Amino acid sequence: MNSAVNKPVLLTVDDDPGVSRAVARDLRRRYGEGHRVVRASSGQEALEALRELKLRGEQVAAMLADYRMPEMNGIEFLEQAMDLFPRARRALLTAYADTDAAIQAINLVDVDHYLLKPWDPPEEKLYPVVDALIETWRGSGATAVEEIKIVGHRWSAPTYAARDFLARNAVPYRYYTIDEPEGRRLLEAAGADPTEIPVVITTDGQALLAPSDARIASAVGLTVDPATDFYDLIVVGGGPAGLGSAVYGASEGLRTVLVERQAAGGQAGTSSRIENYLGFPDGVSGAQLTDRARRQAVKFGAEMLTARDVVALEVQGSARVVRFGDGSTISAHAVILATGVDYRSLMAPGCDDLTGRGVFYGSANTEAPECVGRDVYIVGGANSAGQAAVFFSRHARSVTLVVRGESLHSSMSHYLIQQLEAIENVHVRTCTTVGEASGDEHLEKIRLDHVDGATELVETSHLFIFIGAQPQTDWLDGVVERDERGFIWTGPDLLVDGERPAGWQLDRDPFYLESSVPGVFVAGDVRAQSVKRVASAVGEGAMAVTLVHRYLEEQ
Ligand SMILES: Cc1cc2nc3c(=O)[nH]c(=O)nc-3n(C[C@H](O)[C@H](O)[C@H](O)COP(=O)(O)OP(=O)(O)OC[C@H]3O[C@@H](n4cnc5c(N)ncnc54)[C@H](O)[C@@H]3O)c2cc1C
Repeated sequence: MNSAVNKPVLLTVDDDPGVSRAVARDLRRRYGEGHRVVRASSGQEALEALRELKLRGEQVAAMLADYRMPEMNGIEFLEQAMDLFPRARRALLTAYADTDAAIQAINLVDVDHYLLKPWDPPEEKLYPVVDALIETWRGSGATAVEEIKIVGHRWSAPTYAARDFLARNAVPYRYYTIDEPEGRRLLEAAGADPTEIPVVITTDGQALLAPSDARIASAVGLTVDPATDFYDLIVVGGGPAGLGSAVYGASEGLRTVLVERQAAGGQAGTSSRIENYLGFPDGVSGAQLTDRARRQAVKFGAEMLTARDVVALEVQGSARVVRFGDGSTISAHAVILATGVDYRSLMAPGCDDLTGRGVFYGSANTEAPECVGRDVYIVGGANSAGQAAVFFSRHARSVTLVVRGESLHSSMSHYLIQQLEAIENVHVRTCTTVGEASGDEHLEKIRLDHVDGATELVETSHLFIFIGAQPQTDWLDGVVERDERGFIWTGPDLLVDGERPAGWQLDRDPFYLESSVPGVFVAGDVRAQSVKRVASAVGEGAMAVTLVHRYLEEQ
């Protein structure tokens, strides 16, 4: 990281090159150690420099502007500069003749000081003024923080998606809305207009306008490109099953790459508290658990690609080829499919339209601060919905679980039901579904339909959906055998009346976690008949690696 970035800037702008050099020289001599002196020869040039500093997250302590400059005078410059750095202190360089200008400046741009040219000796005429400017600036509480920034809007679905992507990848950022002054300043500095949100500003000052996940990922330093084109093992999916495979694969000497479409952690990464995972008697947040697993995989040498969507699997002789969304490919001796499941869409009218603008799938933890003092609704009766209810009850005024069934007992663990019963602001509405969602800019109302025909319109800005789970395996159609819902058959389940799957040419049955294609294994929730739990996904991930070894021995 550039150490100069942490030094507050003193900016001087003067169209006379001789004067400009002299000011900069005098400033450097006295303040060079603790400050960076930036010099410009016109108002436009200085504004450009300020925009760049803004994007880089640097701080400007003071600006010294000459009054008499062609095109843009010092006051006009300071007026615009204040839009970018309102806390930077301001001084105008004037000649005696310009007293009018001085008066105008007071009214317009709240100038702190006038410096009469020439200012020799600087010890008497320049430094006391600049000392005062810096002292006032320090007193204003401005501090330099280097961080990724997102500028967006509360009810913008792409803004939510970008924030969620960074949060799930454990990349810290600061969020600004375009309704607040600093958000508008950053937008201006990026040269963006409000239709181009979100704007993601990296620590080195790049401004990305409405970027894709992949663009954000590479700009913030996540690995998106494979280091080579051939591996021993490709793992598709970075949930607990994929992470389990990556840890065991890499630790047992296989050249392993894991490809994840969004963020390592999968569904488990979105769980606010996993209470039933072995070895964590006090529970553990899903993000913490899966982040440790990710680091463990990396420690053993697994490569982790983020924001890469696998769209095809091909068999080329003994190679198993995985194709990415952009058409590029990587190959390996063996593949483990660990792509898990996604939430089913709620088909009620209005939901599709309001997704990301009040309707959210999964826990959407980044929304927690927005829920303070509000009445939020959660659809679903399984553990994931129960955990979310516990989590949001700490933020919202009330949380209502909307459950289709007659009770939670058939779908939720006993310990969670007990926890929910003990929380005062959590309510459960059974035999009820969400019939419609409505709102203009964002979600405002939902209609609750009771099984007996009664309906009720309730006001809410947040609806979190945790219904059903479906595998996203259409891209494997015709490649591996799947059940009617898209879950992938493996091992003994592939044998029909003792017959091996069509096209199977090996002189043995498929191994326990092997698909209908030799060398392609399946672990976790995406596997037909699997147990939908973190522990079993991790276990299957590890076991699949053992079977990969067995398969490789045959080759
Ligand atoms: C909110 C919540 C709370 C839960 N709480 C618990 C709990 O307390 N205890 C418990 O045991 N279980 C819990 N579960 C269930 C548990 O999280 C899952 O059983 C487990 O995560 C399954 O792991 P997996 O690796 O098979 O799949 P997933 O976790 O679904 O991970 C699959 C990954 O593959 C990626 N992927 C999918 N398709 C592609 C593709 N084509 N290319 C690249 N990447 C792809 C996805 O982005 C995802 O990251 C919870 C689930 C949720 C949603």
